Amino acid sequence: MIVTRFAPSPNGPLHLGHAYSAIVAHDLAAQAGGQFILRVEDIDAERSRPELAGSFRADLAWLGLTWRDVPAQSTRLAEYADAAERLKAMGLLYPCVCTRADIAAAATQTGPEGPVYPGTCRRNPPASSQGAAWRLDVTAAMEQAGPLYWTDALAGPQQARPDKGGDLVLVRKSAPASYHLAATLDDAADGVTLVTRGRDLFAATHIHRLLQALLGLPVPQWHHHGLLVDESGTKLAKRRGSASLADRRMGAEDGRRLADAMRQGRFPAGILLD
Ligand code: GLU
Repeated sequence: MIVTRFAPSPNGPLHLGHAYSAIVAHDLAAQAGGQFILRVEDIDAERSRPELAGSFRADLAWLGLTWRDVPAQSTRLAEYADAAERLKAMGLLYPCVCTRADIAAAATQTGPEGPVYPGTCRRNPPASSQGAAWRLDVTAAMEQAGPLYWTDALAGPQQARPDKGGDLVLVRKSAPASYHLAATLDDAADGVTLVTRGRDLFAATHIHRLLQALLGLPVPQWHHHGLLVDESGTKLAKRRGSASLADRRMGAEDGRRLADAMRQGRFPAGILLD
């Protein structure tokens, strides 16, 4: 059975880009007689606003979608910590005490997620791992895993290249997992067979594929859809203040009609699909 998911972070209200993502995931499951699940990705305790989860559900219902709830990330911290311990036991994680400013000053390359970590703490381990983040030694991990492949429904077969962003953080200073570790474990725990999300997260999938191999997790298919952009070609983002679904819902717009228009490729004024 096909299981898809929508996995928003409750850091700000949902906007039209999220609506499109949820509709794509919902419809791919519905067309195949499968299941569509909602997972609230509240791993970032500092930025999470718990009250938004209820608003997300109201937004999805307003769009005419039906879904199954699975546990939020904040309830799964022990599983993340357990997976991190396994990776440590495999010798693949190392503690890192560098700050963002240290990395910005030392980095010589830019990867998909910003400055590539130059490996400072891998070469010179910190005296103590107290309060440290834990990074994956991506070169060692790729050697252990061997060549890996994954398939995107739109872009076709891919060879995993998780090294483009350098050694990435899997355990944060302030949380037992980063997005990459938490989302990969959750997709497996939730039985997701088709991971649908925007093309902006394409590079993340290379990393998730590596984590699946290291942790012995099942390998789903992926579907990275195009992104909604505004008139200037800029990706819609909640930070830039594009109209939220909650505003539209309170303004008595017809959510089902909006969802159907988007299904037919008609987006509200000024919004184009990349
Ligand atoms: N929680 C992520 C976000 O809101 C989405 C992660 C995913 O779909 O894998 O951007």
